[in-house]
Amino acid sequence: MSHTLTGACLCRNITYRIDLPESEPIPKVVLCHCTSCKRYTGSGFSANIVVPSTALKYTTGTPKLYLDSSDRGPQVRREFCGDCGTPLSSQPGDAPQVIIMKSGTLDDEDRARCGQLGLEIFNKSRDGWLEGMTDGDVQKLEGGM
Ligand SMILES: [Zn+2]
Ligand SMILES: [Zn+2]
Repeated sequence: MSHTLTGACLCRNITYRIDLPESEPIPKVVLCHCTSCKRYTGSGFSANIVVPSTALKYTTGTPKLYLDSSDRGPQVRREFCGDCGTPLSSQPGDAPQVIIMKSGTLDDEDRARCGQLGLEIFNKSRDGWLEGMTDGDVQKLEGGM
């Protein structure tokens, strides 16, 4: 038995599934406030789940790859849909064992299953308008994980 999460880009040319072992908890959401994520998503932050790279399979289509410089040094691999532009994943060059999936691309039911906020990172570049908008009890790091 395993937990399966599925998702897609906006135009649905790219779909994916994530198979997590039953022993793994359902991932919590990690918000990233880094400047690159703001630009990548066109929003104030990115909302993500972190899963083992081996758990991810693209089931339809192939995303485009953008190699990004990052706040932490090594290049970040960012995968997105070349047709509709949806950001799908990012993967730090120094942590290829994990892949960071944009939680907004999960299918509705699975996004609801990942309904808890676990961590906020790169709070040093957190937008001021977010003041008070997230749970004060959630751990917040100035930099990366
Ligand atoms: Zn698309
Ligand atoms: Zn980021």
